[in-house]
Amino acid sequence: MYVVGIRSLGGKFPIAGFKAIWGTFFNWKIIPIVFFFSYLLLLFRSTLEEQEEKKESLKVHVARLKHMKNVLQEEVRRLEREARRLNETLRPEILFNHGQPILNESDDVPPIFFITPTRYHPAQKADLTRLAQTLKVVPNLIWIVVEDGDRESVRFAAFIQSFGLQYIHLHARTPTNVKTKNAGWKGHRGVVQRNQALFWIRTHFASTTRGVVYFGDDDNTYDWRLFREMRTIEKVGVWPVGIVGMKLVETPVVNENGTIIAFHAWNPRRSFPVDMAAFAINISLLHSYPAAKFSFDVSAGYQESEFLVKLNLTRQDLEPKAANCSEVYVWHTKTQKPSLHASERRKFELQEDLSEIEGRSVL
Ligand code: UDP
Ligand code: MN
Repeated sequence: MYVVGIRSLGGKFPIAGFKAIWGTFFNWKIIPIVFFFSYLLLLFRSTLEEQEEKKESLKVHVARLKHMKNVLQEEVRRLEREARRLNETLRPEILFNHGQPILNESDDVPPIFFITPTRYHPAQKADLTRLAQTLKVVPNLIWIVVEDGDRESVRFAAFIQSFGLQYIHLHARTPTNVKTKNAGWKGHRGVVQRNQALFWIRTHFASTTRGVVYFGDDDNTYDWRLFREMRTIEKVGVWPVGIVGMKLVETPVVNENGTIIAFHAWNPRRSFPVDMAAFAINISLLHSYPAAKFSFDVSAGYQESEFLVKLNLTRQDLEPKAANCSEVYVWHTKTQKPSLHASERRKFELQEDLSEIEGRSVL
């Protein structure tokens, strides 16, 4: 039919030819098919475009994430560096070298003679453990521990030795007759023990003129910075003491020139209105004034002041320490008397029938 159609076109071609071809190919039935395929084509094209767009935006997203990764990695490195730097600065204060503190002082610093009277009571072991561990961080410190008793106890000796500190263990018994109301007991504690320590220093360090002597009771609280400050004392150093004399803090009042102009303290009329924990002296003063010691024969609250008077000091000799008396590095804390059942107290006082673990709790 197709061949016949062509032949019959004759001279009328191309219109007739076109019609013939049109007639041959055109068929109403193919219209939906054409539409369908066009639609498919369009659909395919738009999906392709969409995919292309998606790909582009993912590429941007990936690039952004990579950038963020770099920024965060850089930040992590910066923080790690910062942490290392902080660690380095802290290290000298917290690290121990073979049990010896590093701090930021060499072992060549002037020695500190730290005098501690101590008596037998249920919390004695606890108090001394806390104190010993504070002293552990202080270089070149000689701990003079003076037991209030007729002899040095064996248990005590083993206990003190266990801390690995430089120490000397002495004893001196507080006379019972001074402790009674009839004897006019003025509450002077640690008198004979401190004097025993002073005697020991004067005897064994007779030719030593470099060093500082400090009276450190066993239940106070000490910041190690105090020890760093007291080494440079030429005659007598003074500083604030927290929670003492019915006050939050007792302190010398220092003006902008670094001169002490007053005392914020209990009874500021004393020649030296300071607590036992508020001062330290250069060892050479002990040798210059060999008779200077503590005494039961002074008014209550005058022990420190009278001792400094005996060292021939004046208020002008006082050297403010602890950042010019602007920091509190020692507190006159007091260990509470523990409440014990009468039977427990008896066991403790007689040192009898203590179980092994009870024996480990006390000295
Ligand atoms: N102390 C002592 N014998 C006593 C009472 C006290 O050796 O009979 C010691 C005590 O261990 C401390 C210092 O003397 O190291 C001062 O005593 P306490 O802390 O009781 O006095 P306060 O804090 O009231 O001045
Ligand atoms: Mn005390």
